[in-house]
Amino acid sequence: MKTTLSLTLIALALIFVQCSGKGQEPEPIPEEKEEEPGSVAQKFGGSWTSFRPSLFHDGASVEGENFIVYSDKSSQAWRETILGLAEESFLDIKTNFGLEDSDFRFVSTQPNRKIHILTNYDQYNRAEAYRDGLIMRSKDGPNFFGDHETWHKVFQHEITHVVEFLIIGIFDHSWANAVWMREGFANYGARNHRIQTVAQLAEWREKMKAVEGGGNPIEIKLWGDFPASVISNNTTTEYYGFFELAVRYLLDEEKGNGTSFEDLKAYFDDLGAGVDRDTAFRNHFGMTMTTFKNNFWALMERYLED
Ligand SMILES: [Zn+2]
Repeated sequence: MKTTLSLTLIALALIFVQCSGKGQEPEPIPEEKEEEPGSVAQKFGGSWTSFRPSLFHDGASVEGENFIVYSDKSSQAWRETILGLAEESFLDIKTNFGLEDSDFRFVSTQPNRKIHILTNYDQYNRAEAYRDGLIMRSKDGPNFFGDHETWHKVFQHEITHVVEFLIIGIFDHSWANAVWMREGFANYGARNHRIQTVAQLAEWREKMKAVEGGGNPIEIKLWGDFPASVISNNTTTEYYGFFELAVRYLLDEEKGNGTSFEDLKAYFDDLGAGVDRDTAFRNHFGMTMTTFKNNFWALMERYLED
């Protein structure tokens, strides 16, 4: 009963974050855990407490150049492995986008300019990014399912979210971006380019023709913009391929919109400065978000035909 309640609270908190676009409902801080005899003491705390205060760690962190990894009960070997993968992904994203260390606005909750990772052995089975880092399941834990490749794509997706938050910089504005662009950028950064053909576009439009918005990804600025049937069927991630396609088009200087990552970065900087997303978008992508939405299918057909 208590578990169901706390899961409900977590779900509500998540929905709230994504609907409001900033901040979140405070999660109740649980009482200290009772330890089984012989187990390592677990404590609460870590930068993720701004997001998930109930998640604990055992204090035995491992640290690399850009990341610090905490866990509840993961093996030391796994902590080292995930640290290595994080450093590798971060470098890949930085290189891919030509980012410099000075582009990242680290804050006081990130001492020594380190991104925090909480890798969960058995306490929370979701992947999430927040302003100062990310939460990711351990591959050596009992809740791990799936394969390495899927896990790794999700991991890179979450790291790309953190890169966006670090560029935007200001905590209060970290969720200012439109959902379609935040999730699309995260898949783009993970090199997860699912939609490649006009046939895939046509198939999606056919499938979504009776659904509000017709599956147009640019409709989804806030989490609450997903059609009710998509939320209730738990199929929001089916949109992600089209979110990524939209971002890929914007960042394709040659065949796409003629804009680039420099423009996306300037858009993130505007969001960090408190400019609203519609104005920031118009400032840097040469059209309004509404124009992009209205022309989306025609633009994508032409883009994918080449
Ligand atoms: Zn995401």
